[in-house]
Amino acid sequence: MSPPVVVSPKRGRPKGVKNKATLEKMRLEELRAMAASPSTPLVISPPELLITSDPNNNKMLKKVKTSLENQYKEEIKQLKKDLETVKQLNYRLQNEVRKLRSESHDSQEMSALNERHLMEISQIKKKQWCFNCEAEAIYFCCWNTSYCSTTCQQQHWHSGHKKTCRRNAAKR
Ligand SMILES: [Zn+2]
Ligand SMILES: [Zn+2]
Repeated sequence: MSPPVVVSPKRGRPKGVKNKATLEKMRLEELRAMAASPSTPLVISPPELLITSDPNNNKMLKKVKTSLENQYKEEIKQLKKDLETVKQLNYRLQNEVRKLRSESHDSQEMSALNERHLMEISQIKKKQWCFNCEAEAIYFCCWNTSYCSTTCQQQHWHSGHKKTCRRNAAKR
């Protein structure tokens, strides 16, 4: 097994030198160009770019730093506010989802109930009912006339069905 890659920690660079890495790279490239063609004169970056000793420059840097710090503080404050808003929205959204889920469950139960009701009605409609007492009929007399029992048939017969019975009419 090969040893893990060790990353060297970033060295603190003097304040005011923001692009030290770029400068180093530039110098390296200059040296490489030198090696390739010895006639090319070596151009070295001026040292002022690397070290900032100017007190005015330091003051300005401090100012920039303070201003940046204030700006960051404001941004963090705003972010915290936004986060709170997002949290509240999320909470409300979750409540809505919960409500919708329970409503959908209710509506599913309703439609199941409705379906059962329709089936029962369909079953009932297919049955015959006693013309006399409206109980379930098992005896058929004639068109649209059935009875639950012979008692009901006789009662209905004497109360007028003998005049309207279609079975007798067909026989005649
Ligand atoms: Zn009856
Ligand atoms: Zn009849």
